Formats: sequence, structure tokens, C-alpha cells
Amino acid sequence: MTKTFKTDSRQMLGRLRDVMAEDAAGQARLDQITRLIAEEMRTEVCSIYLFRDEDTLELCATEGLNPQAVHETRLKLGEGLVGRVARKGQVVNTDDAPATKGFRFMPETGEEAYSSFMGVPIQRLGEKLGVLVVQSKQSRLFSEEEIYAVEVVAMVLAEMAELGAFVGEGAAMSARHQQAKLFRGTTVQEGTAQGHVWLHEPRVVVTNPIAEDPVRELERLHEAVETLRVGVDRMLSTAGGDKDQLEVLEAYRMFANSKGWMRRMEADIDSGLSAEAAVEKEQSAARARMNQVSDSYLRDRLHDLDDLSNRLLRILTGQGAETGAEMPSDPILIARNIGPAELLDYGRSLKGIVLEEGSVGSHAAIVARALAIPLVIHAARITTEALNGDPILVDGDQGLAHLRPDDAIVAAFRDKMAMQATAQERYASIRDKPATTRCGQTVKLKMNAGLMADLPSLESSGAEGVGLFRTELQFLIRSHMPKRAELSELYSRVMDAAKGQRVVFRTLDIGSDKVLPYMKATDEPNPAMGWRAIRVGLDKPGVMRMQLQALIRGAKGRHLSIMFPFVAQRSEFTAARAEMDKALERERILGHPLPVSIEVGAMLETPSLAFAPDDFYREVDFISIGGNDLKQFFFAADRENERVRKRYDTLNVSFLNFLEGIVYRCATTGTPLSFCGEDAGRPVEAACLTAIGFRTLSMRPASIGPVKSLLRRLDLGELRGVIHAERDSGAQSVRDAVMEHLRGKF
Ligand code: PEP
Ligand code: MG
Repeated sequence: MTKTFKTDSRQMLGRLRDVMAEDAAGQARLDQITRLIAEEMRTEVCSIYLFRDEDTLELCATEGLNPQAVHETRLKLGEGLVGRVARKGQVVNTDDAPATKGFRFMPETGEEAYSSFMGVPIQRLGEKLGVLVVQSKQSRLFSEEEIYAVEVVAMVLAEMAELGAFVGEGAAMSARHQQAKLFRGTTVQEGTAQGHVWLHEPRVVVTNPIAEDPVRELERLHEAVETLRVGVDRMLSTAGGDKDQLEVLEAYRMFANSKGWMRRMEADIDSGLSAEAAVEKEQSAARARMNQVSDSYLRDRLHDLDDLSNRLLRILTGQGAETGAEMPSDPILIARNIGPAELLDYGRSLKGIVLEEGSVGSHAAIVARALAIPLVIHAARITTEALNGDPILVDGDQGLAHLRPDDAIVAAFRDKMAMQATAQERYASIRDKPATTRCGQTVKLKMNAGLMADLPSLESSGAEGVGLFRTELQFLIRSHMPKRAELSELYSRVMDAAKGQRVVFRTLDIGSDKVLPYMKATDEPNPAMGWRAIRVGLDKPGVMRMQLQALIRGAKGRHLSIMFPFVAQRSEFTAARAEMDKALERERILGHPLPVSIEVGAMLETPSLAFAPDDFYREVDFISIGGNDLKQFFFAADRENERVRKRYDTLNVSFLNFLEGIVYRCATTGTPLSFCGEDAGRPVEAACLTAIGFRTLSMRPASIGPVKSLLRRLDLGELRGVIHAERDSGAQSVRDAVMEHLRGKF
């Protein structure tokens, strides 16, 4: 066997191709294939088990076992030797199956007579499809070469399954990529969207897994790898100084020149695979390893190999990023992950976004929020399930994506969208009206921004200016540090768009979750409480000075509002303000026009500042509460950590008392106060903040309508009464009582 293995393997694949070429139904094909493999492998049994659902394997074809068991025998993932192969994604090879750990006796198949067992996973790019098994009576271990041959066949089967070869009457398999599928993820940007799938990285489809002419295939592989190497070298020579990017490219180069990788692919071709299939086989193996290693460096490198394999496949198949598919008119973007710049390129053309990875605080999330595009992350395996053009519904409120939904879901979803549309109409009708409560108090509703993409919302949302302009976003979406001239131009355009309404520019808030790709990251055990925001600005004032200059120049003689982030004690504010004064003086000497008026405020994001001396309150021109940070430090609960993020309620009595204390201090010192964390944009929270005394709230543009609509129906005295009564009763949170009170007012 060993000597003739290559011929055998190729012969087996050749016969497999003939079977595939015949015009047979899916089940007939599977039956023929098991017969063929048993013959070629000289075993009494060959069986194919395929996944019926996520954790059930079904015997779908067999040569040698009881034919009555086909479509009857089912195993759970991990059950029996077959289930073990499927769960681990690894080969099981034994000469004494009944004595092997995990063996399960299945009388209906007549299996006990077989001593030798070899099972290999049928998987495509890390996606498990089933298990291919050979068994023989004679007790023997299968050789490495035999295992390899069966693996190659399993790979081709996976490829063919992908192409729908086993679908048909009396279906051996239900058609892949056709059933409805629900993905449960994490919500990042609320809202609902109905549309069609647009894959950020379209799947490369390999239509020719088996090749007749290995010499030609080797040539094709070598040519493609050469093209790949040249491409990687070119990328390396034009790459900037970004250490991470260079590391990735170096890894690419290492793999592209790796003899081991090349040798394995050459062996795959030698055994009868096409160049594409050989690349994909190695890619599958890398993906399987990726799911098993926990070391993050190794995982990153396997990720790199995966990317490189994709590039190679695109070269080989000629399926560039442009696969010829046309973007649907209502695209829902599906991707493993996406960078902020790429997302901005798509812009508002997208109706929704669903990612497999990502995080709530990622840059892509920031962009999606700015564009108000519903975004769901952590939708496991959606890139392998979705095909370009598939219908899909995105429920950003619940963090769900319905792929190929059935009619009942579509109908329910439409109802929900219609209700939202009605609400939107109501918000639009009050857009130009003030947020005045029934009891006559007017609340200023401003918007949070940070990207040029936000600016159209100034008009459409009815915001009264920008209460928080996160200037770091401009730094985050670039691959290099923006220049002063670029920034001043941008700040100027932001002020133009605000048409005289105030824009509060927050100086750079980097560190913690906001890491600039081109700045050396500091390895801190606790970055949220580490060297970030104003702390960086004061220790390394170069960037802060440049930014202050850009702001003064951008104002072009108009009013300028600035606030410093994450001020924890008075001296930090005093030092930062001194930098501002110096910048003004420098600009004056250089002859640039100075702003007609300036206000400089501090963000209150650490509890310490709530207890700062009165002098601090008198020194600042205004205070804005960064509720996202303030809350995480108040409750000691990481705002990025899914486990604890929602554990503590904003309407917790302790937190409300604390906020009320700040309102009181600002009132007694005459300090203007606003609130600009995410809670300001949640109607119930916004109502309570207003009831305890806030008169300026800054929020995402999409929240202005719902918040205003509720405020206009409120009597603050009544709501305050509910809050106080609940507090006096000893409740932990006032939420239930407030919700009860607000019922019917939304
Ligand atoms: C906050 O902390 O509430 C805030 C507005 O700032 P950021 O979310 O950018 O940290
Ligand atoms: Mg903050």
C-alpha cells in the first residue's frame, strides 16, 4: 500500500470525479462514493455521517453496515468514536475499536464485528460538516498514507457538499445555505434593518477540487505563490513604521517562503488535488488548529496564515475582491471584522452590519454609531453561513440577525419596523420644537459627535449643538497621526456645520479602550484606570499643544468651547488650562485671529471630582459628566466587560444620590452642568436625570427624538415625587416605579 499510495489516492480521486460528473441524485452519489472508497481502501466498511443540526450526526450512506440504519442512526456530537472525531476535528485511528475510549455499541448497524476503525472529519475551512469512516474486520492500524488519502477524499467531499452535490430527492443532506438561521449576538447600535447580504470578503468558491494533471497544478501553485511573494514584498516596502502592521507583513513573508507549507501543498497536489484545493486543505488545517490554541500570539499567526491563504486562493481562482457580484440596493454587511476606515468607505449605503467578532468599544462600533447603522457583533459563524444576496433581517435592539428568515418572521419584523417608522414620524414632527416639559422646564438636547459622518445629523436630529465632540475619533480612524492643518480644517468645517450653535470639543481622550494604531501602546494591567486622556496630555504635551493650536485656528475668530477629559483633581485642570493660555498667546504672537470668546470646561468622570474644593467648581467654565466612565468607577464595574457591564443600574438610588450631589454643588457654585454619557440618550434615564436637575443632555443624534418626545410629556415634579418616594422606601433602584409612572408616555 505504501509504495503504490500516490497512484491509489489519485485513482480514488479520479473515480470520485467520475461519480460527481454523473447526473445522479444526492443520495445515489453518496452511496456510490462509500462503495468506491471501501473498494479503494480495501475495507469492508465505509460510512459517511453528516450533521443534521448543530450537534446531531446522522448516518447518511454506508457500504458494509446495515443499509436499514441509513438515516436512522444518529449520534450526538461527542458520542461514540464518530462523535469524538466530529467534536475534536481530529482523526481517530484504532485497531481495537470496542476497546477504545468513547466506543458506543450500535446494534442496528451490525458494527461489533469490525475491529479497525479510522474516522476523519469532513470539514471545510473550520466548518464541521460530518465524518468519513472506514472499518475493517482485520485488526490493524491504518498507515499514515492511508489516513492522508482518506483526509484528501474527505476534503473533496466537503468541497462538493459546499457546491450542493448531495442535495436532492430523498435528500441525503438538506441543501446548505438555504435554511433559515438565527444568529444571537451582542447589540452595539440599535435599530432594525431588512436587506440582503453583502459579504465584505466574498467566499472563494473552488469548483475544481480534483485535478488530472498534477504537473500543471504544481506549476499553477508555484506561479501563484510567486505572485503572492512579490505582492507581500511590495506591501512591506511601502508599509509605514507601524510596528503591528510590519509584524503581520513579516509573518506573511515568513509563511509565503515557508518550505513546510509549500511541501504540504505539493504533496496534496501529488495526491490528486487541484492547486486551489491544496491551498484550502492547508487553510482548513490551520483553522482547525486556530480553534484549539489558546496562546494569543500563535492564534494571531494562524490568523495571518489564514489571510495569506485567502490571498493565494484569490490569485488562483481569479476571484479578486471583485467577484462580479453586484452590491444589492439594501446591503447588510457581513464580515468577520472590519476596520473603521473600510466602514467609512461603505458609508451610509449600508442598511445594517453583522460581525462575527468585534467589540462594543471598537472603532468600527464608533463609526456604525455615528452613521446610525444597526450593528450586531459576536454573530458566531455568520460568514460561513451567509451567501451574497441572501435575505437577512437585523434586529439591533435585541442583538439578533435572521438569515434567510421564513415568512412569519418577516411579517413580525415588518410590524416592528412599521412601528418604529411611525415613531420616527412623530420625532420628526417635533424636531424643531423645544424639549419643554409639561411643567414648563426646558432641557437643552445636544448631540455627541466625532466624525464628519456625524455632521448631517446636526440638521436632521434637531440637536442644539454638539455637547461632546470626541476628537480622538479622527486620530483613531487614521493609520497616521493627523497633521495640525488637517485638524484645523476639520474643526472649522464642524463649526461651519453647527451654524453658530456651540460645539464642545473634548481634547484627545486616548488610552484605555482607545488605542492609536500608530502610537506605542503601553502595556498596563488596568488601562481604564491607567495612563490615559488628560494624564497623557499633560505628561507629553506635544500633541495637546498641536491640538489646541488646531482648535484655535479652526475657530477662525469664532467662539470656542473646549473640555478636558478625565480630570481627577483640580491641579490637572489648572495645568491644562495654562496650556490653553500659552497656546492662545503663541497664536496671538504668530498673528492668527483669536476666538472671540472661549469657555474651558472639565469632564467629571471620576468620583474624586465630585468632592473637589469649591474653588475648582468656580475655576471651570462648565462641567460635563462623562457618565460612562463615572458609572464604571462608581460601581467598580468595567464598562467593556459583558459580565458586569449591565449589572448595576444607572437608576440605582446610590448613583442617583451621587449625581444629585453634583447637581447641588454646581447650583451653589453657579457652574453650568451637562451630562454626556450614553445614559443621556436613554429616555427613561434621561427623564430621571432631568427630574434630579440636569438641564443639558448630550447624546447620540438618534436618541434626541425619543428623549424629547418623552420629556415633552413629563411633569418633573410628579416624577421627582416618584423617585423620592421610592428612595425613601429603601428600594435599590427606582427603575420599576419610574417605568410604572411613565407607562403610556413613550
Ligand atoms: C463618558 O465617559 O461618559 C464619555 C462621554 O466619554 P467616553 O465614552 O468617550 O469615554
Ligand atoms: Mg469618558
